Amino acid sequence: MGRLTSGTDAYRDAVSSALIGWGLAGLRELPWRTTSDPWSILVSEVMLQQTSVSRVLPKYADFIGRFPDPAALAAAPLGEALELWRGLGYPRRCRNLRDAATLICDSHGGVVPSTLGALLALPGVGAYTARAVLAFAHRADVAVVDTNVSRVLSRLDNRSMTARELQETADSLVPRGMGWEWNQMIMDLGARICTARGPMCGRCPLAGTCAWRGLGDDPARSSAGASRPQGRFEGSDRQARGRAMRAVSAAGVPRREVVAAMGVEPERAERLIAALVAEGLMVERGDSVAAP
Ligand code: SF4
Repeated sequence: MGRLTSGTDAYRDAVSSALIGWGLAGLRELPWRTTSDPWSILVSEVMLQQTSVSRVLPKYADFIGRFPDPAALAAAPLGEALELWRGLGYPRRCRNLRDAATLICDSHGGVVPSTLGALLALPGVGAYTARAVLAFAHRADVAVVDTNVSRVLSRLDNRSMTARELQETADSLVPRGMGWEWNQMIMDLGARICTARGPMCGRCPLAGTCAWRGLGDDPARSSAGASRPQGRFEGSDRQARGRAMRAVSAAGVPRREVVAAMGVEPERAERLIAALVAEGLMVERGDSVAAP
C-alpha cells in the first residue's frame, strides 16, 4: 500500500493509532504525568520551558512541596521562591509564576483557570503553556506545539511550517477524547526517536506515514519553533546575572561585593544589576543590594 495522503481522515487515523499504540507501552513516568492538578501541571510546564527534565525533577518536588497551591506561592516572599528556583535558570519565570499565583488568588478564587483566554492572561503563560494545562490537567482535545512537536510534524509532512500551520496541523491530528495521550506521546517521540540530533526512523512508529524519513534536507530546521543553538554561557550576561543573584542575601550585600562576584567589567555589572532591580529580582538598600 502506498503512503497515505496527508490531511485525510485515513492519514490522521493511521498516525494517531500508530503513535498512541507505541507511546502507551513506553511512556516515561514523571511526577507531572501522574497528576491532573492544574497548579502542579502549570508549575512543571513553566519549569520545563527552558530547562531539561533531569534538572527540573528535584526542583519540582521541592517547589511543589513548599508551594502546593497558588495561595502558598502568592503569600511567600519572592526571595524564598527564587531560592527554591535556584539552579533552573531564567529566574524571571519564577517571578512571573508568583505574579500568576497572585492573579489566580485575586481573580479566580485561588483556582487555576480552565479556559484558554484566562490562562493566556496569566503572566509568563504563552500559547504552549496554556494549552499544556488544558490538555494535561483537563484532558481537553487541544494540541500543544513545542520544539519537539514542531520537528516531528515538519518531518512527517516534509515541509517547513509557520507557527499557524503547525498549530492547525497539530490540532487536526488530536484523536477525540485523547488529548492527554496524544500530546504526551508526540512530545516523547520528538524527545526520544525523532530527535534534533538525527531521526531514528528504523524505530519510529510513524515511519509508514512519514514523507521525509531522513532523506534530503531536514524540513524541521526552518520551521517555526525549531530549536536554535544557545549562545555561549561562559562570559554571557546570563552567567553574570546568575552570579549576582547567588551573591546577594535577604539581609543585603555591599554592592561592590556583588559587582566583584559577577566577574565582568564594573559598568556592565552595574547595568545588569539595574536590570535585575527593574525586573523585581533584586532590591536596592542604600549601598547594598538584597534578595527581594
Ligand atoms: S520516520 Fe523518521 S523522520 Fe519521520 S517522524 Fe519518524 S523518526 Fe521522524
